[in-house]
Amino acid sequence: MKILNVVGARPNFVKIAPLHRAFLRYPDMHSRIVHTGQHHDFAMSGIFFEQLCIPPPDHFLGVGLGSVTTQTAEIMRAFETVIREETPDLVIVVGDVTSTLACALAAVQMRIPLAHVEAGLRSRDRTMPEEMNRILTDAMADELFVTEAAGMENLLRESVDPARIHLVGNVMIDSLRMMRERIDDPAILAQWEITAGQYLLVTLHRPANVDHACGLRNILAVLSVVSKRWPVVFVVHPRTHSRLMEFGLIQELECMRSVTMLPPQGYIQFLTLVRHAAAVLTDSGGVQEETTFLKIPCITLRNSTERPVTIACGTNYLLPDFNAQKVWNILEFALHKGKEASIPPLWDGLAADRIANILREKYINS
Ligand code: UDP
Repeated sequence: MKILNVVGARPNFVKIAPLHRAFLRYPDMHSRIVHTGQHHDFAMSGIFFEQLCIPPPDHFLGVGLGSVTTQTAEIMRAFETVIREETPDLVIVVGDVTSTLACALAAVQMRIPLAHVEAGLRSRDRTMPEEMNRILTDAMADELFVTEAAGMENLLRESVDPARIHLVGNVMIDSLRMMRERIDDPAILAQWEITAGQYLLVTLHRPANVDHACGLRNILAVLSVVSKRWPVVFVVHPRTHSRLMEFGLIQELECMRSVTMLPPQGYIQFLTLVRHAAAVLTDSGGVQEETTFLKIPCITLRNSTERPVTIACGTNYLLPDFNAQKVWNILEFALHKGKEASIPPLWDGLAADRIANILREKYINS
């Protein structure tokens, strides 16, 4: 069975690493990696291949920067050529980025069976590009691998055939479990003169938070107040950096004495920062899950989350209306009382193995 695994952006690398490794265990599963090039520089791509021991991609599509529409079209065109060359038995897409939808569309147009890993998540916020990518990819997929119970309910409500839906756990947590021993290096904190347990880690990149000058200015104003009580470590995503430059806000941030600004970090470095933070402020999907697994309080600067288990079971708190008082209130609660957090069912490091077994049953043994 020949599988084409699609990756394009940072969170995809973290998800595909355990899958590729699981497939390699079986001589009758031929796993190939196609990198669309959506994120291509070392900080957003290469370091993840290195640290997560992913072999170099078999195909690099090299899509450049451009609008989502242009990128989608370029990825589809290039991926069509790869499909013709490879004639795979299955295409696997993960997550909710532009590459996910573009390659799903190309696979379906060419009648190649499609699997979506991390299916069924719904924020119910259709202004998020990721939400449309999720809905459309799920509508096309033949096999839908789900991380949490809410995802199953969403897909059944959308009338997806139950035989195609599989609750398997979370491949992102597979990676985290595999790397757990390595995400504890004190030198990483020492390098930035940061004290364990004494800082708030911040990471933001969703268009709704960073694409408007007024909203971004408000976030900086809140961080400036918050940092007077809790030192802030702000890991700045390239998109956020571009907006800070465009809106002339970068100097304001640089001048905040208790805010340490860092460039995008490697997987090991970033998760070490997460693991030792007092709490995390984020709008990232994956970070909500990782903080739940690590039991670190997480404040999510969004109106909704597609990962409700991180709130129901985990350490996540939604904060739609971002102000310093509310941040303090949540921190006060999370650090002194906190909720009874637990790790969601099946987030046990074996999701990729379950996926490999299901695919073998359905596509090889049947
Ligand atoms: N991450 C990282 N370095 C960073 C920021 C994030 O390694 O500087 C990791 C993070 O631990 C998680 C993944 O990147 O595994 C999440 O990516 P991102 O927030 O870009 O995407 P999202 O999950 O929101 O789709």
